[in-house]
Amino acid sequence: MKEEIEENNQLHRTEIENFEKKLNLINSVLHDVIEGYNKKKLCPTCDTEIIAFLPFGVNPRPNAQCPNCGSLERHRATYIFLKENTSIFKENINLLHIAPEKIFYNIFRNQENINYLTADSNDKPPRVMEKMDIQSIQYPDNTFDFIYCSHVLEHVPDDRKAINELYRVLKPMGKPLFRSLCFVF
Ligand SMILES: [Zn+2]
Repeated sequence: MKEEIEENNQLHRTEIENFEKKLNLINSVLHDVIEGYNKKKLCPTCDTEIIAFLPFGVNPRPNAQCPNCGSLERHRATYIFLKENTSIFKENINLLHIAPEKIFYNIFRNQENINYLTADSNDKPPRVMEKMDIQSIQYPDNTFDFIYCSHVLEHVPDDRKAINELYRVLKPMGKPLFRSLCFVF
């Protein structure tokens, strides 16, 4: 009986804690909304002024997701990096995008300067144009000016072979952006 009461108490404590977390999140969003009327935020990936970014995640964190395009912090940071530090939006390039995520697929495919190829180990239409095992890429040496490969290498059985292949099909002056736990340039 005593154990049952303690178990119930623990359940109530957990419920209260979860409720408090939700209240804090609502509070943070409301704060952003109220403040946002005076100071709107700009989402760089969709170039839209918004009042507030929304909470996102299993344990939702505040100020994370754009309500317009769905971008998260990492997408916006990557987009700003690409725009300010690479020629990806300026020069005519062949771009290979492995396992294309929706946010960047929507950005890259609309760029007139980008000859765009998306690939994945599985056919996942509509975003994937070609099936590709990056441990054995079906393209000749020096094909691409830029390769964007995010959160893929940690899932490939032989990541060294994959990196060798990606560099093989990359032109000598080309730029790779491999992202998993860190950036590698
Ligand atoms: Zn956006």
